[in-house]
Amino acid sequence: MTLILNGTAASQAIKEQLKQALSQEREKPHLVVVLVGSDPASEVYVRNKEKACHEVGFMSSVVKFDSTITQKQLFKELDKLNHDQDVHGIIVQLPLPKHIDSNAIIDHIAPHKDVDGFHPLNVGNLHRGQNGFVSATPLGILRLLEFYSIGVVSKHVVVVGRSNIVGKPIAALLLNANATVTITHSKTKDLMQHTQQADILIVAAGIKQMITADYVKEGVVIVDVGIHRNDDGTLCGDVHPSAYEKSSAYSPVPKGVGPMTIAALLLNTFQAFKERGV
Ligand code: NAP
Repeated sequence: MTLILNGTAASQAIKEQLKQALSQEREKPHLVVVLVGSDPASEVYVRNKEKACHEVGFMSSVVKFDSTITQKQLFKELDKLNHDQDVHGIIVQLPLPKHIDSNAIIDHIAPHKDVDGFHPLNVGNLHRGQNGFVSATPLGILRLLEFYSIGVVSKHVVVVGRSNIVGKPIAALLLNANATVTITHSKTKDLMQHTQQADILIVAAGIKQMITADYVKEGVVIVDVGIHRNDDGTLCGDVHPSAYEKSSAYSPVPKGVGPMTIAALLLNTFQAFKERGV
């Protein structure tokens, strides 16, 4: 029987743990999201983050700026947040307007408040296998596998995609966890030959339902990171349902990786709060 990796259930369990841990604290973690401009998708993501914070009892604030803000002004605003003792986690919602260098902005967030795990220091710590913030989607995927007791040690994990926010960090995280990892991308020759070897297949290519049954072996565990909106308004992922039938377990879209990303962000914010002033 195929197991469905239910991200809603797993994220709920994490939220309950966080509520429990928070009940032992006198102060509350405070996450600040910086939003520049009025991209509708970004506004939805930001609302979801706020909602999740409130659900577990964290404080959350959204600091909004007009899309005409300059990079220099944004640096100054980040300086204020970096030095504010009452702010524990900072996220700059991407994408930023074209006249702002996103990397320069990310580099300006204090690493100990960088709960998205995008700052080079946190990226470096991940690659050295040291403590730091791991970006939310990869951390959420690891927690989802853990929740369903799916071990990764000595497993062959194939990752489709090498973005800085999903593919590369999930590969590093799983390598640190003693999996054998293959990373593939758009220039990979004969992708299918690689994906068919996977004990665990993580797909973050951003191409609607590209992984069909012939890409996978029987018994594979599939983690689908992709999110796409169908014409009828429903959502689907990078994996075609035909591949689910050959799998021993798969994460659905929606209610798979998405809720785990938010839960992992809460975990990172709690970590930033606990490590404040350390
Ligand atoms: P991205 O930055 O566009 O990266 C896509 C990666 O896939 C690239 O490395 C690209 O290779 C590779 N790729 C593209 N076509 C390919 C192909 N035919 N074969 C093999 N590899 C291919 O995307 P992303 O930010 O990582 O996101 C990926 C998907 O996950 C998107 O659908 C996004 O919406 C979704 N997502 C979901 C969550 C969540 O919380 N559930 C979070 C983040 C992202 P190259 O490097 O060679 O171009």
